[in-house]
Amino acid sequence: MRAQTLPAIHGGESIDGSSLMAIHGPLVAGDARKGCPHAPSRGALVVPVGVVDYVAVIEPRMPATIPLRRGGNGDIPGRVAAVEIPELSPLVAMMFAGLAGLVVGSFLNVVAHRLPIMMERAWRQQCADLARQPPAALPAAEIAFNLWMPRSACPDCGAAIAVRHNIPLLSYAILRGRCTQCGAGISPRYPVVEAVGGGLSLVIVWVLGPTWQAAAALPFAWTLLVLSVIDLERQQLPDALTLPLLWGGLLLSLVRVDGGVLFTDVGSSVIGAAGGYLILWTVYHAFKLITGKEGMGYGDFKLLAALGAWLGWQSLPLIVLLSAATGAIVGIAGVMLLGRSRHVPIPFGPFLAAAGLVTLLWGEALMGRYVQWFL
Ligand SMILES: [Zn+2]
Repeated sequence: MRAQTLPAIHGGESIDGSSLMAIHGPLVAGDARKGCPHAPSRGALVVPVGVVDYVAVIEPRMPATIPLRRGGNGDIPGRVAAVEIPELSPLVAMMFAGLAGLVVGSFLNVVAHRLPIMMERAWRQQCADLARQPPAALPAAEIAFNLWMPRSACPDCGAAIAVRHNIPLLSYAILRGRCTQCGAGISPRYPVVEAVGGGLSLVIVWVLGPTWQAAAALPFAWTLLVLSVIDLERQQLPDALTLPLLWGGLLLSLVRVDGGVLFTDVGSSVIGAAGGYLILWTVYHAFKLITGKEGMGYGDFKLLAALGAWLGWQSLPLIVLLSAATGAIVGIAGVMLLGRSRHVPIPFGPFLAAAGLVTLLWGEALMGRYVQWFL
């Protein structure tokens, strides 16, 4: 389909790739948003036409001509994409988001390191309570241990890390990845998580524009990032992160902005949460029945439930397909290229997380193409 096959729109439309005249059509905000969760701003709508053809719809009170950001197939005439928000330049918003992502990434490193330790301590405490034994004595310095206390320190020599050495990416580069006190190497995981946090945030605002969708997608992506790191390092997906993500997705489905839903409606969200859990629960038990082995953990079920709550049951097939396919490819490549043992399970959480994020950002286009190929 091409943009010109849009009978619903009339008025002074003019799509030349660089500017767009105001279009006053019979489309109303709610209708248009049903088809497109990526409406870039209040007062400006993007209506998907076919698979990659987008046309911008601008409300009368907006300026007659506003700059366009080129979309997926920007070179093809008539396939121009999204409308820029007039109040805040997308470039500035992307820069802010990227910087915020760097800082948050730095904090996510702390969460990824400390949360599993905090959980382990809580378990030990519970076990001791259950056995009616006094808990093992902790060194005084370790009694207060949470996300904020004690201050970050070098794991080798225990020297506290100065605030000026806590700047995301820069500090690692300046210190050349070594502790100032003892010279021990700092794990490259720190700058990597910071960079990924910044990059993800930038891409989200680039794709969704400076919108409420983007504002909600940022904490979604950050939580998925820290879950992935913890799963990669410890093969755990803590309830302390998956469950709030699930509740957040359910609650967010209640939010309406400009008469439209943010990502999905309440019904789709609830069914998505239950369905996401059930899909992997079923796969897990079927796999266990057939092979006698455990293919994944309960954290994976909860993570897919959370993704279903955020994106609706409609996106579950795509998430499962993407995560299973990439997981299988990486798993096979690991065995064949790196000589990994076939019996060492690879954590599935990062694949689910990545599939969820891809579905949030590009799910509609991907599903459209899929339908086009097969129908
Ligand atoms: Zn040190």
